[in-house]
Amino acid sequence: MALSFNVRSVVRRLVLSDLRPTIRFYSDQQEGSNEEQKEIDPAKDRTKIIPVETSIKYMQSKAYQQTYGENTVWALYRRNHKGGFAPRKTRKSCVRNGMISTGNPCPICRDEYLVLDHRNTKLLEQFISEYTGQVLDAFKTGLCQKKHKELLVAIERAWDHGHITYDVPFREYDYSLYNKKSNSV
Ligand SMILES: [Zn+2]
Repeated sequence: MALSFNVRSVVRRLVLSDLRPTIRFYSDQQEGSNEEQKEIDPAKDRTKIIPVETSIKYMQSKAYQQTYGENTVWALYRRNHKGGFAPRKTRKSCVRNGMISTGNPCPICRDEYLVLDHRNTKLLEQFISEYTGQVLDAFKTGLCQKKHKELLVAIERAWDHGHITYDVPFREYDYSLYNKKSNSV
């Protein structure tokens, strides 16, 4: 009996010694998250999901007119960077852990009411060149890589759904090659 009791106590000690660091880890994490919650600035919070319908209404609102006027969303945006020339690639993302992590977020990230979606055509058209019909480069618009990829997907989808029209080059076909009857007659 005494031996089995000793074995049990040893096992209990081992289990407790294994658990202690994990318990401490969890308690540390909870404390950390509480501190972070206190620090969140409502202007930088990006955890709220804004529906596309709201964004479409915003694009036609007076608030949008006051902010951007006749300019495109990205026209007056300037990237902060070291030295005289901007780096070729824009930053990977402006948002980390649901919060804006930079003092100079890109034109889409800085305004939470601009939602990239295939239905939000008024926004997507601002990123398509009026001369070539191609999507403008992130180097020109200043979008972060994450938002630029989202933009490409949204524009592709808008083309598929027919929300945005695009030019297809005109081709003249020699139909005699396809229609044998007209060729013989
Ligand atoms: Zn961004």
